[in-house]
Amino acid sequence: MSLSSSNFENILVMGKSGAGKQPRIDVFTTNFGLKQLSTGNIFRSFMKIFNDAAYEGDIDQFYDNKKNEFIPDNEIKRILGPSIDDSIIDDFILGLKAHYYVSNGLYVPDSLTNMLFESYFSRSDYKGMVLDGYPRTEAQAEYLLKLTAEKGTKIDAIVLVENEDDAIIKRTMGRRICPSCGAVFHLEFKPPKDGKFCRKCGAEVILRSDDTEEKLRMRLQEFRDKTMPTIRFLSEKGIPLVKTEGDLPVFTEEAVKKSVVDGLKKAGLL
Ligand SMILES: [Zn+2]
Repeated sequence: MSLSSSNFENILVMGKSGAGKQPRIDVFTTNFGLKQLSTGNIFRSFMKIFNDAAYEGDIDQFYDNKKNEFIPDNEIKRILGPSIDDSIIDDFILGLKAHYYVSNGLYVPDSLTNMLFESYFSRSDYKGMVLDGYPRTEAQAEYLLKLTAEKGTKIDAIVLVENEDDAIIKRTMGRRICPSCGAVFHLEFKPPKDGKFCRKCGAEVILRSDDTEEKLRMRLQEFRDKTMPTIRFLSEKGIPLVKTEGDLPVFTEEAVKKSVVDGLKKAGLL
């Protein structure tokens, strides 16, 4: 069986935070010739364009607090004047908006997330991607289906990585990172030296600030409230849903690959 000849156009890998999405994404990038497109990376890249431009003005002036939205782009451009180069102005404005919401800890509106996503997705002609972290809401899913239909591409399947909350919490709370070199450990599965020191550089390992139980439970709740309805919506629109177990009895690259391939076969996609 030649996996790469199966020619998937786009795959969505979905699941709770900490369910084990990355090893499944790796199956598609390694065996099916797809590339990973992560919302986190998209946001970081646009915010970098904004930051690199070292704009010194006040960005609050572009936000209309009464209407609760940004003023129109042509107004923003007029105020910016020649301070930002024409060749990057559109990406700069997208980055400015992303920066505004993220740095103020505000919820990013779907309309902006959709625009950032589309701008990135267009660079690959809307195909050849494993989407990670998008769509996260029904409005985003609707946008994605409309976009792929318009561009003549499609979403072949949703691969849902299933894992129980308790298992996720247990695994995530055991995770430790090295603040000095970035190495990742796990108290149970890959313990640091003497339970607390990095095996590479010797620094004392720490719990990531995003890995507190409170923050994790919030992410799990958000999955139930927003992502599950999104998956149902896509499934009702005819996108095949492939369920895979997040925890495997033996967790090797081969075992993960087999579980994904078996799921795709069962859904008639291979
Ligand atoms: Zn280290």
